Amino acid sequence: MAERTAGAGDTEALGERVAAGLGPGDVVLVSGDLGAGKTTFIRGVCRGLGVEAPVTSPTFTIGHLYPGRVPVAHLDLYRLADLGQEDPALLEDYVTDRNVALIEWPGAAEPRLERVSKRVLIRHLGGDEREIEID
Ligand code: ADP
Ligand code: MG
Repeated sequence: MAERTAGAGDTEALGERVAAGLGPGDVVLVSGDLGAGKTTFIRGVCRGLGVEAPVTSPTFTIGHLYPGRVPVAHLDLYRLADLGQEDPALLEDYVTDRNVALIEWPGAAEPRLERVSKRVLIRHLGGDEREIEID
């Protein structure tokens, strides 16, 4: 499925709708260039999962854990070019069968993930327009 959004609010609303189909153990990979709207989309998913805390990009850790209707892990692996050189346990706190995991820049983690529920790809179409592909 692919949809176009015309602003950050639309992208957040789409994320919120996607959340309705998610539950414990689901892993969602969110790809796209810097500024495409990955965090914006994830903010919407978090809202949909009942997260009330402000959702911002993890900077000093690889991820944030938020309580919600389902616990949610939000990871940003931008700085992890290769998980092969990292501790294999790094993902274990975040990707579990008890929570939903939402992963920006998932490349480094992909070979380690046993389960991927959805792949989201966001493309700039100029201005505030984005194309959001969800598989
Ligand atoms: P990323 O996490 O992919 O680097 P962010 O979600 O942090 O991107 O930032 C996207 C920026 O683009 C935000 O400033 C947001 O307000 C803006 N924006 C403009 N139009 C859209 C849109 N249609 N969808 C998502 N974000 C948009
Ligand atoms: Mg981001």
